[in-house]
This record gives sequence, C-alpha cells and structure tokens, in this order.
Amino acid sequence: MINTENQNAIFPPGDKAPADYFTGTAWVKVLVPQDETGSYSIGNVVFEPGCRNNWHTHAAGQILLVTDGRGYYQERGEPARPLTRGDVVVIPSGVEHWHGAAQDSSLTHIAITNNSASGNVEWLSPVTDEEYRSVHASSSQR
Ligand code: MN
Repeated sequence: MINTENQNAIFPPGDKAPADYFTGTAWVKVLVPQDETGSYSIGNVVFEPGCRNNWHTHAAGQILLVTDGRGYYQERGEPARPLTRGDVVVIPSGVEHWHGAAQDSSLTHIAITNNSASGNVEWLSPVTDEEYRSVHASSSQR
C-alpha cells in the first residue's frame, strides 16, 4: 500500500520532503505555518516504508503525535523507541535524534515544532543504512 493513497489518511499528503534531509520518500503537509507572531508550527509527515529523516536537533523542542503506521524515534546514543498509532513523543531542546518509518510499514505523525531565534531545526548527517538496520536488528517488537 502506498500511504499517499491511504483512504483512511486524515490529512492530504502535501509536498515531497527535501531529499537533502530525508533518506527515502516522505511527504510533508503544513497544517499551521509559522508567522511573525507564531510560537510554533504544525505539520503532518508521511514516511513511506524505509524512509527516515536525517539526524537533527530542534533549538526549542518538538512534539510528535503518531496517527498511523509504525516506525521509530531514536536519540543519539540511546536505543530506538518503536512508534505506533497513538504514541506521543516529547523531544527536548537540542537533543540529536531522528524519526521515520519501519522497513515494512509507513509512518504518519503530526509534528509540533517550537520556534526559536535560531530557527526550529538544524539538520545534520543522514541516518546510514547501517544505523537504520541496527534499529531493526535490536528491536524485539516483531
Ligand atoms: Mn525532529
């Protein structure tokens, strides 16, 4: 199943995410854009199976609300946390991490990202295939 054709999807898929910051295909729909007075922005992100974003940090944190599929959230130096529908992830400011789909499932989450004077995200290096595979190898979820 291609998630962008998911009849149960709450939001439309939006635009293809920039390849500079994602490995694989993801779709981003801006739900609430930033503006001059906004303290946060809200977007819906659909990761196709195997897709994940680069390692990155948020200067003022981020909250993920998982609405569909299965995937992972991992902080640098920590075991990956499996994600499924209904999970909430509170990401502290400045903590290096990535999020994305499982190898055999898409993942959809809403991302609430706080603004700061220095922006809301700093993109770092891609999650390598080796790093991504190790998550699956160490997961006991399935
Ligand atoms: Mn993030």
